[in-house]
Amino acid sequence: MTKKQKKNLIRIITASAMMIVFLFLPVQGWLRFVLFLVPYLVIGYDILIKAGKGVINRQPFDECFLMAVATIGAMVIAVTGDGDYIEAIAVMLFYQIGEWFQSYAVGKSRKNISELMDIRPDYANIETDGELEQVDPDDVEVGTVIVVQPGEKIPIDGVVVEGSSSLDTVALTGESVPRSVAVGDEVISGCINKNGLLRIRTTKEFGESTVSKILDLVENASSRKSRSEDFITRFARVYTPVVVFSALALAVLPPLFRMLVMSADGNWANWIYRALTFLVISCPCALVISVPLSFFAGIGGASREGILIKGSNYLEILSKTKTVVFDKTGTLTKGVFEVTVIHPEQVSENMLLHLAAHVERYSTHPIAVSLRNAYPDEADDCEITDVEELAGKGIRARVNGDVICVGNEKLMNSVGAKHKDCGHTGTVIHVSKNGEYFGHIVISDIVKPGSEKAIAGLKKAGVRKTIMLTGDAKKTAEKTAEELKIDEVYSGLLPADKVSRVEELIEHQSENGVVAFVGDGINDAPVLSRADIGIAMGAMGSDAAIEASDVVLMDDDPLKLVKAIRISRKCLRIVNENIWFSIGIKVLCLILGALGAANMWAAIFADVGVMVLAVLNSIRALR
Ligand code: ADP
Ligand code: MG
Repeated sequence: MTKKQKKNLIRIITASAMMIVFLFLPVQGWLRFVLFLVPYLVIGYDILIKAGKGVINRQPFDECFLMAVATIGAMVIAVTGDGDYIEAIAVMLFYQIGEWFQSYAVGKSRKNISELMDIRPDYANIETDGELEQVDPDDVEVGTVIVVQPGEKIPIDGVVVEGSSSLDTVALTGESVPRSVAVGDEVISGCINKNGLLRIRTTKEFGESTVSKILDLVENASSRKSRSEDFITRFARVYTPVVVFSALALAVLPPLFRMLVMSADGNWANWIYRALTFLVISCPCALVISVPLSFFAGIGGASREGILIKGSNYLEILSKTKTVVFDKTGTLTKGVFEVTVIHPEQVSENMLLHLAAHVERYSTHPIAVSLRNAYPDEADDCEITDVEELAGKGIRARVNGDVICVGNEKLMNSVGAKHKDCGHTGTVIHVSKNGEYFGHIVISDIVKPGSEKAIAGLKKAGVRKTIMLTGDAKKTAEKTAEELKIDEVYSGLLPADKVSRVEELIEHQSENGVVAFVGDGINDAPVLSRADIGIAMGAMGSDAAIEASDVVLMDDDPLKLVKAIRISRKCLRIVNENIWFSIGIKVLCLILGALGAANMWAAIFADVGVMVLAVLNSIRALR
C-alpha cells in the first residue's frame, strides 16, 4: 500500500465510524446538519476541491463534478426535508471505496510489470589495482573491461574476454533454459550471470545497451493510445455533458409540466432527487478506468513472456492480424548454414572456401557467419579492401587487388560471370574473380524446430494467410515453404522488392486484412516499418530491428508469434467485455433511475460494483 492509499483507507474508516455513531445521537435541526457535515467533508473534501477547480478552469464535466453536484444536492434536500444525511455521505463513501480499490489494482499490475522487467542494473564493477569498484553504468566508456560476478546482472552489452558461465535470460526472453557463454561470445545486458566470473569488454554505452532500450520501450508503451482508449476519451467528452443536461431536464421539466399543465403540486424534491440519482449512476468510472488498465495488463503479461509490445495501439492491431508475412533466413530457418558441397572451377575446394571466407570477413549476414565458420583458420595473410555488401545479392571486395564477388545469380549476372547451375538443393553461393567464374559453394540451412507448429498455430488463432518472402533462389524457397505448409512464397527478392510486395498486400486490404511482417532485422528493417505491424524476432542486441518494429520477440522461437497474437486477442476480448458490460449496466441503471425505480444507494452500489468487476476482469489480461 502506498502512503496515499493508507491515508484514504483511514479516511474511509473514520467517516464510516462517525456516520454510524452520529446516527444514534438525539440531535435535531442545524446541529444535526453540522454534525453530519464533518464525515461528509472528511470523505469528500478532495472531490469537492477537484470539482471546484474544474469549474474554475471551465472544464467542469468530469466525475468529480457529478459526485459533487449529486451529494451537495442530497445534503440540501436533507436539510430542507426529512433530514437523511446518510445518503450524501454514503455516495461519497462508496465512490472513495471504488477509487481506492482501483488504485490498488493499478498499483499491483504496475508493480507486476516492473517486477517482470526487473532488469535494470544498478552498478557495474570495474577492476582497479585488483580491487573491484562499483560505478554507475552510465559512466562506463565503450571498451572498458567490466567484471560480472556470479549472481549479478550484466549491466552493459559487450564481449566476454575472460571466463565462462551460463546466463539466465528469463527476464528478457521468458526462456528458462540458461545460455552458456565463453570467451569471444557477445553478451547482452539484463541477463543474470549464474555461475562463473566473467570479464566483459563493453561494446556499447549504457544508454545504447539492450537493457536501456527495452526499459525505454516498456516505459513508453502506455503513452501510445489504442483506438479503444481514444474512443473512451471522446465518449466521456460527449457523454458527461449530455448526462448533466439530461439530469437538469429531469429535475426541471416534469415538475413544471405538473404545475403548468396539470395544475398540480410540482413535487420538486422528488424530481430533483431522481435527477441527482441519475447523476450518480451516470458516472463513467468503470469504463474510463478499466479499458486502459486492460491494455496495460496485456502489455505487462506479454512482456513476462519475452514479447515486447510498443504500445496499446500495436496490441490492438496485432489482435486483428489476418495475413502474416515471413522473412525466411533467420526467421523461419535457423540462419546457421552448413556447407554441403563445393564445386570449384580452376582452384581447389579449399581455395574457394578460403576466398569466400575472406570476402565475408566483416559481414554480419548469417551466410557470412556460416562461411567464416566453415573456414575457421582464415589468416590475415592478404589485403581486403573496398568491401561492399549488396543487400539481397551478396558481397563484393578487393582481395590483394582482385575484385572478388560472393553471392547469388543476380550478382554473377551483374559482373558478367558465366555461372553454372547446381543439382544439389540448398542455397548456392557463387564466387567470381575479376568477372571470371570460380565455382560455387552449396550451403544448407535448417528450419527452426518451432516453425511448422507456428504456422499451424497461426491458422488456428485465426490468421487467414501466411506468406514467405526471401532473397534466396526459387528451388530452396519452395522446398522450405512446402515443408512448413506456407500458403504463398516469393523468391529472388531484393530488400526493396520485399517492401513493394508488402505494400501490394496492404493495398488489397479487403482481401488481406491487417498485414504483419515478421523478420530478424537483417536487411529487412524497411519492411518491418512499412507493414501494418512489424514484428522483430530474436532481436536481442539488434538495434535496427528493435527500432523499426512495433513488436519485439526477444528470442527467436517462431512459436512466440502465436503466443503474441493469442495474448493480443485475449486482451482485446477483455476490453470489449468491459466496454459493453459497463455501458450496458449503466444504461439499465439510468433508465431505472429516471423512472424512479432506483434510489441513490442502489445507484452508487451498481457503479462501484461494475467498476470492481471490470477492474478484476482487466487484471486477467496479466495472466
Ligand atoms: P532472406 O530474404 O532469405 O532473408 P537475404 O535478403 O538476406 O535473404 O539474402 C538473399 C540472398 O542474397 C541470399 O540467399 C544469398 O544468395 C545472397 N546473399 C545475401 N547476403 C550474402 C552474403 N553476405 N554472402 C553471400 N550471399 C549473400
Ligand atoms: Mg533475412
